[in-house]
Amino acid sequence: MDYVSTRGAAPVLDFRGVTLAGLASDGGLYVPRAWPELSHAALRAMRDLSYAETAVRVMRPFVGASLDGAQFARLVHTVYDDFGHPAVTPLVQLDSRHWLLELHHGPTLAFKDIALQLLGRLFEAFLGDSGSGITILGATSGDTGSAAIHAVAGRPGMRIVMLHPAGRVSEVQRRQMTTVMAANVHNIAIEGSFDDAQALVKALFNDAAFRAEMALSAVNSINWARLMAQVVYYVFSAVRLGAPDAPVSFAVPTGNFGDVFAGHVAARMGLPVRRLVVATNENDIVARALALGDYSRQRVLATASPSMDIQVSSNFERLLFDLADNDGPATAARMAAFESTGRLAIGPEILARAGERFLGVRVDGATMQQTVAQVHETTGLLVDPHTAIGIAAARVAAGSTEGPIVSLATAHPAKFPEAVERATGIRPPLPRRIGHIMDRSERMTRLPADAEALKAHMRALAPAREAA
Ligand SMILES: *Cc1c(COP(=O)(O)O)cnc(C)c1O
Repeated sequence: MDYVSTRGAAPVLDFRGVTLAGLASDGGLYVPRAWPELSHAALRAMRDLSYAETAVRVMRPFVGASLDGAQFARLVHTVYDDFGHPAVTPLVQLDSRHWLLELHHGPTLAFKDIALQLLGRLFEAFLGDSGSGITILGATSGDTGSAAIHAVAGRPGMRIVMLHPAGRVSEVQRRQMTTVMAANVHNIAIEGSFDDAQALVKALFNDAAFRAEMALSAVNSINWARLMAQVVYYVFSAVRLGAPDAPVSFAVPTGNFGDVFAGHVAARMGLPVRRLVVATNENDIVARALALGDYSRQRVLATASPSMDIQVSSNFERLLFDLADNDGPATAARMAAFESTGRLAIGPEILARAGERFLGVRVDGATMQQTVAQVHETTGLLVDPHTAIGIAAARVAAGSTEGPIVSLATAHPAKFPEAVERATGIRPPLPRRIGHIMDRSERMTRLPADAEALKAHMRALAPAREAA
């Protein structure tokens, strides 16, 4: 399987290459040169498979010769046999045609575990016993940091340095990071905002000498392997609701457009997907882009669904490239214009093609809160604010869409207890398997928002190779 950059000017790489590279050298994102096919017969044969068995079949063509079949299957089973629910991603029925796909049964209670747990194992397999190991560096405002730490903790050949803004992440989110005691995990509380932490990470990646010295790597959602892992649950749920013989729609709470792009990949592979509902909060850049052809950056607003508080949806570039029939130079020109002006106009032809599958829906905070309350009243279920945005958007779309609609539950309600309590009067408790974080001791280092201080701190850490 060959991977090409959306900007057409980076080397073609195999699966191992794109997994370790993350971003392409021309600033673009890697995508497969062609989509592998899932025939109707192959889909029907998946109805009785476990999640891990389905995952092996769906992902196998993307991996190509980078791992041998038995090794890949072992790795996938190791990851998904260890989730907090035997179905891995169970479906729960909300009403006669509306289902919830629970993606929050991983170790940190957010859907990001599904892909990051696999990515950690892939890094381990690819780094093997070669070289001196890598340092994964990132900044987090919450979910991504803890999921990445849990994916890397204790694995040989890699260590992780995760920055968060001191005092500005919730206690649960902080403890999910700082109570991990593996020697290769380094939490840093930066005296500043999330943007300050993010700017430090960028500065270190842009310092070519330091980047090489540390063998810096990233695990953010531009990494192709993460998207690949997310294709699986679209297939797994759809075949349980009648696919390929009946099409299914999905409503996806969206920030960086990674999760919903994985749904598009499933459709491109042959899964009959009627609609992909792109649900946003007030930070609605992709909803505006899909409705009006206007992809333009605005100020980020802080909402009760913080993991969707994003004004630049990185993975949208992958959709633009696909809808432009893999035209790299045209995509590069569009993205260059966006980077210099903050605006990208999507032409009527591409907009019409996107409209055949995608429907953008913006959900405001009041509607989100009513949805949390209403779902609780009618079903007894507690849903988190991100999930509620998807459900509200699914209800808007239901009028113009036939057949079953699956809303993706991207976080466990206990990750956002204040918002859930405001809507329902009930404070969701942490599941027992992670409750211990509230009485464990924490470990982190506090640093000023200063690149030189951070570099000096990182140089003094134990080497990646020995750390685990
Ligand atoms: C990351 C995240 C999202 C957004 O997913 P994208 O792939 O960035 O679109 C939605 N909900 C939760 C809970 C998340 O953590």
